[in-house]
Amino acid sequence: MVASAEDTNPSHRFAQDRSVGQKLALGFSAVGIVVALVVGATIWSIGKANNANSFQHRSSVGQEVATQLQYAASDMRAEQLSYVAGNGVGRARFEAAAGRFELALDDLRSHAVTPAQEALVIKIATGYQTFLAVDQLILNEIQAGRFDTAHNLTLGAEQLGFTFMAEDAATFSRESMRLEALASERFGETANHLRTAAISLGIFALTLVAGASWLITHLIRRPLLELECSAERAANGDLSATVDLSGNDETGKLAAAFNFMLRELRTREETLVREHERQATGRRIEKAFDLAATEEQVLEVVARALGDSSDGHRSEFLAATGPKGAISTVVATGDEPSVAGCDVGTLDDCPAITAGIRLDFESGEDIDACPHLRNRQGGPCSATCIPVSFSGKNVGVLHSTGPNRQPIHPDRAGLLVSIGAAAGARIGAIRSSADIKLQATTDPLTGLFNRRAFESRVRRLHLDGDDFSLVMADLDHFKLLNDSFGHDAGDRALSAFAEVLRSTVRSSDVICRWGGEEFTLALVGASEDEAGEMLDRIRLNLMGKLSTSGITPFTASFGYVDAGSCPSLEAAIRLADQALYEAKASGRNKAVRARADGHGEHIPVA
Ligand code: GH3
Ligand code: MG
Ligand code: MG
Repeated sequence: MVASAEDTNPSHRFAQDRSVGQKLALGFSAVGIVVALVVGATIWSIGKANNANSFQHRSSVGQEVATQLQYAASDMRAEQLSYVAGNGVGRARFEAAAGRFELALDDLRSHAVTPAQEALVIKIATGYQTFLAVDQLILNEIQAGRFDTAHNLTLGAEQLGFTFMAEDAATFSRESMRLEALASERFGETANHLRTAAISLGIFALTLVAGASWLITHLIRRPLLELECSAERAANGDLSATVDLSGNDETGKLAAAFNFMLRELRTREETLVREHERQATGRRIEKAFDLAATEEQVLEVVARALGDSSDGHRSEFLAATGPKGAISTVVATGDEPSVAGCDVGTLDDCPAITAGIRLDFESGEDIDACPHLRNRQGGPCSATCIPVSFSGKNVGVLHSTGPNRQPIHPDRAGLLVSIGAAAGARIGAIRSSADIKLQATTDPLTGLFNRRAFESRVRRLHLDGDDFSLVMADLDHFKLLNDSFGHDAGDRALSAFAEVLRSTVRSSDVICRWGGEEFTLALVGASEDEAGEMLDRIRLNLMGKLSTSGITPFTASFGYVDAGSCPSLEAAIRLADQALYEAKASGRNKAVRARADGHGEHIPVA
């Protein structure tokens, strides 16, 4: 998931800015409100149904009470007729019936549910009062003995009150029946409405609850799923799998922390990769230097390594090439041929070499810049100077320039340091190795090959079948020279003789200090005659040198042989030694040639 611009949708922003707890609270609040509405509507509907039911019930009871009133009225009428027929006997039963009628009338009054019924009750009560008034007249007539009149009045009472009361009660009853039917119908309708409303509200509530649940789940789960997906990709090595969540809620903050963690990991990974590449390059450079067998090959590696790491900037290696620490550019790379290199002339003149540490300069214009960086052709530049040395001995300096005020990149500087260290170490190793080899093969006093090195080289000549003359030389009366003028004078004499040998013979010839004041020579390609001439030249040159150098004069004797005519090197040495002995014996300061006679022996001759 790649990070994108912040979500600007207001509803999304609202959701993202709310915490998970707030989202849950909002969701449950919405559900609670809906449930409360549903419960309220249900209660209201039930109330409506109860009202209808109560109305129906009251109407039904009113109908019964009206019937009871009719019975009570009939009973009261019957008791009136009875006591009138008995001329007043049974009047008490009439009064009891009248009492029951009044109770029934009160009952009816309490069950009047409509104004019409209330009017009927009033009408019945009025009729009852009229009936009682007529009854009083009837009672007066009976008490006066006018029984016929009383009898006639009962008919009037019936017409005046009773009939109306009965009719009104019947009307009340019918009204109650009608109301009951109406209530029943309303109750049915209300029940139907209630059922429909309950089902609708239930569906609505379920839909709302489901929607709210989905929304809450979506708002909480979606970012968690994105986080899970990104974490899985990151675990599989994709450190670019940042999460696109910009909200301020818990998941947004978690995503920010996750993205920060990925950025940190990417940075560390890049650092590790760069470090790995740097180490790999360093190992390759070290290996290349290890493979360099000569200083020339080391310089080639330096040139290649500087070229690979220069980034197009000029880099050079200034190394000691002359006497008194004089240094000059031995390697130069880069795409800036117009920029002149460092003009430092000696090792001691280079601040980086004398300090023994890498020096960085941002600009040749700075007051603390290296004096050799000022006034460079091509304008001011930055520079890095890395001394190259081995075992404390300075070899030179790596010098790399760059754009003005742009310090060298640390990785490139590290690489240059590696190149300088490896080059110095390799040059040191090569020089040490050469010194050791030289010490093993040369005589320290004269610089000539020692006996072992001579034997090795001459044996190679002999095995290869090369023609050469073998010469054994010995200084004459050298013990006397030592004893007379001191050991140092003897040493100077030995060195002077070595110099004469070196300067007289050809470079292809092999010269050796055999031991003490004895020397051997292999004059390659020289016949015995040519060897004799060469030895005469040596003796002449020796005399010439001694006459001008102030060294105590001395002479030397030589014995020589054509090595190609000898069966072995040992035989040639022995024969040359015998010839030398002959030269000594015959007066010294001469060269004697050894030659084979008819018996296969070599006879030394003067
Ligand atoms: P001859 O003419 O018969 O060769 O006599 P010689 O004195 O040269 O021979 P000898 O063998 O008696 O003496 C050789 C002397 O060389 C002995 C020794 O003191 C001297 N010698 C050998 N090696 C060195 C050296 O390295 N330096 C010096 N100064 N003298 C050396
Ligand atoms: Mg000797
Ligand atoms: Mg000698």
